[in-house]
Parts: sequence; C-alpha cells; structure tokens
Amino acid sequence: MIPYKHEPFTDFTVEENKHALQQGLKTVEGYLGQDYPLIIGGERVETEDKIVSYNPGNKNEVVGRVSKADQQLAEKAMQVADETFKTWRKVKPEIRADILFRAAAIVRRRKHEFSALLVKEAGKPWNEADADTAEAIDFMEYYGREMLAMKDGKKVESRPGEYNRYDYIPLGVGVVISPWNFAFAIMAGTAVAALVTGNTVLLKPASTTPVVAAKFVEVMEEAGLPKGVLNYIPGSGKEVGDYLVDHPRTRFISFTGSREVGTRMYERAAKVNDGQTWLKRVIVEMGGKDTIVVDKEADLELAAQSIVKSAFGFSGQKCSACSRAVVLEEVYDQVLDRVIELTKELSLGETVAPEIFMGPVIDQAAYDKIMSYIEIGKEEGRLVAGGEGDSSQGFFIKPTVFADLDPKSRLMQEEIFGPVVGLTKAKNFDEAIEIANNTEYGLTGAVITNNRMNQEKAREDFHVGNLYFNRGCTGAIVGYQPFGGFDMSGTDSKAGGPDYLTLHMQAKTTSEML
Ligand code: GLU
Repeated sequence: MIPYKHEPFTDFTVEENKHALQQGLKTVEGYLGQDYPLIIGGERVETEDKIVSYNPGNKNEVVGRVSKADQQLAEKAMQVADETFKTWRKVKPEIRADILFRAAAIVRRRKHEFSALLVKEAGKPWNEADADTAEAIDFMEYYGREMLAMKDGKKVESRPGEYNRYDYIPLGVGVVISPWNFAFAIMAGTAVAALVTGNTVLLKPASTTPVVAAKFVEVMEEAGLPKGVLNYIPGSGKEVGDYLVDHPRTRFISFTGSREVGTRMYERAAKVNDGQTWLKRVIVEMGGKDTIVVDKEADLELAAQSIVKSAFGFSGQKCSACSRAVVLEEVYDQVLDRVIELTKELSLGETVAPEIFMGPVIDQAAYDKIMSYIEIGKEEGRLVAGGEGDSSQGFFIKPTVFADLDPKSRLMQEEIFGPVVGLTKAKNFDEAIEIANNTEYGLTGAVITNNRMNQEKAREDFHVGNLYFNRGCTGAIVGYQPFGGFDMSGTDSKAGGPDYLTLHMQAKTTSEML
C-alpha cells in the first residue's frame, strides 16, 4: 500500500490547469438545472416537493432540483439502512477500504468537474473549490488506510492459557448531517468515516448544496458500494432531521454545522425514546470564534497576510476563519494599516475566473445576518474597510474590517460566519492570550511571534483544538493537522485524525481459555 500523502493543490496560474477547470465548468454547465432523486436502497425516488439549489453568485442560475424526503421516506430509508447493516457489518474491512480507494480514484479523475460544481453550487473561488475536492479525496485515502490499521483491533495482554482480543465493531445506523461550507469534503468525509467502519448511513446534506452530494453518492455506487449502505435523503432539518435524530433505531449522529442546531441535536439525542435499546453516540462539530494573536516581536507582514487570508478566504465561511485579531499595542497601528491595505486589494465577484479572490456568501439568510452584524460593528468599533453589500445578482459582501473593538463586544464574541474581522489591542502577550481565550468556542487559533518563550506559553495556554504558529488559522490537512475544537466548538472529535474512526465503533473484548 502506498503511504498516505495529501492530494496536491492545483496552481491555476498554469494555463493548462486553468483550462482544465474551465472544461470542468463546461461539463457542469451541461447538467445544470437537472432533477436529482432520493437514493434509498439503491432505488431512485422522485418526490413532488423539491429543494432548488441556486448559484449564490448568480441567483438566476439553477444548479439542480433535488427531491425532498419527508418523514415517511426517512422511515423507509431507516428500515433499509437497518436491514443492510446486518450484512454490511460483516463485510471485511479490507473490502470496505478498497471501495474508498476506488472512489478516491474516480473523484481524482473527475477532480476539476467536482471543483467546478463547488464553484457553481457554493460560490467557491477556484482555489477554495480545489482544496475542498482535494480534502474529499484525502478523507477517502486516509480513512481507508486507518481502517486497515485498525482491522485487527488493538493489543491487549494475555495470561498463560488465555487468549484475549480487543476488536472494534461497528455501531449501526448513522445519521450524517453535513454542512454547505465544505460541501464535498466534510459531507464525503463524515459519510465515508461512518461507512468504512461498517455502519450504514442516512446522508442528509445541507439544503443549499445537495447536488454535489448526489454526485458523490453516484461515485460511491460506481466504486462498488452495495445498495442500502449509503442512502441519500435531503430534506428539511425540522421535519427529516429531527425525525431521524429522535429515531430509536438511530445508533449515532454525525453533524457539522451551526452551534444552535448542534446543541439542539445533542439534547434531543440524549433522550431515550420508546423502543430504543442504546444510548446514542453524537459527533458534533460546530462553530468557532477564532483568533490570530500578533506579538510585538513578529514578522508583521506575515501577520497581516495571515489575518487577511484566514479572515476572507471563502468569504470567512469557515468555522476555522479568523474573525478576531489581537495585536500587541506596540505594533497595532502598523498591522492594522497593512490589513486595511491588503483588504482593499481583494477582488470580489462571481467566481468565474481564478483571479477572483472572494465570491458570494451562501444565501439570503446568511447575507442578512452578516449585514446586521456589520451594523452592530459600526456601533461597537471603527469601520476601516468594506462594510457594504449588494444582493441584486448574488450575495456579495465586501471584506470588512473593524478596528478598536472591546474584547467583550458582540463582534468579538459571536460567530458571524462571513467576511468580517475585528481587531483589538493588548498591553502584553499574557493579556493577548487571555483575550484570545475569552470566547465560548475553542476551535482554531494562530500566534505570529518570533519569541520562542511566548510561543511555548501559547502552546500551553491558548485553549483551542487547532493552534498554528507563524501562519494563518485555516486550511487543516487531513492526516497532518487533525481538525476539531474544544468547548462550544463541538465534541472534541478530530476529523482527519487517528482517533476519528473509533468514534464510529465500539470495542469488544473477547477472552478465550486455551
Ligand atoms: N477544516 C477546515 C479548515 O481547517 C475548516 C472546516 C470548517 O469550516 O468546517 O479550515
């Protein structure tokens, strides 16, 4: 087996690569506006009611019309998944892993088509779309290998005359509810982690990006996944999501999305309903309010570049995005000036070419929410860049910077999930770390410093799941920087890490007298 290595990113300044993505866009344009059925036990199910997926950068463009599950169809899918579990759990881990490797190869061959679809359906800039597709491939390659490494369980001791084993067995039916911001990577990653470990899956993708999920399910079928292991059931959270979270046959839930939905789900999943014979497992990855700390002994150009890139990449719609910068007072003005300068250079528009740095936000609700935070920001701080939006053609908001915020202000505490960053001043490094820690979240953070002692202090005291030194705070790579946060950021599960698959399994001890 070739050792795992992450999928390289594409350089779109190379003409050939640019052309490849343009070709991808042509392919996607050839199937825009098509209908996608639900997939339950391999069967295609059309419904009257549809979810319409639009291009957020061009509201007139319909990406696809997707059938919408109701409770009855969700129940049908549950029964199929429950039945299929009886056979799938006995399929050898090697075979399950091979399906992931084959799927990764299929996606790799159609890489630029998938990225083009993300450009259209999520409004991603080209490099962000490319990274999303690469990460989806990485999850398949990495979890496949992790499953192989775990297939014989872990070592335990045996006394003379005794043979003890410690094996991991699957859980049952998993409900996977995935987000739109990594519409391919996180959707595929959470689904394949669940199924490579021997579980069956009910996949409910985000309603804003269901088409890429439909294409992924087709890839899994092509790769040889048996019918009924992965069932595709887009639908409303209130109707289908709640129904499945509450369902007594649901064994575990894997959710990535907002804190509001995540905490609600966690609470509902805790209740033991009639006919339920287990306590549900819940894997939840929620928001962040991530900080870059800039020390006074630091590369200030690197600091400004890191803040701007982490704040505005994919319009700040990452739970890892930098939404706060805490800068030591000695260098505050210098860093702020450079952040403003760099922000004003960013290009904004429909992501039709690789030169566009920033595209739209995902939909009207996101646009309204972000614009209302910009209004709050104008009262709480000093608007120094951006601040305007235009939703006539797509949902465009200028990259926005607020200076001189109070660390306790709403802008510095609440997740905005858009292209808005706030800066605040700290008297010394200790105070900077204190401010960085003063949110309810604990997902990512970065420290820009040339002071080794300060770096080590941050390593110990900066309480986040992913801490970066002298770089930005987004862009974790599967298998290199396992990703997931503390506190209200989630259940401390680390996607793309060596513990992740065990969350989808239970350990069984067997002891035999020889
Ligand atoms: N893993 C991504 C990163 O490191 C963020 C995932 C998310 O926003 O949900 O930037």
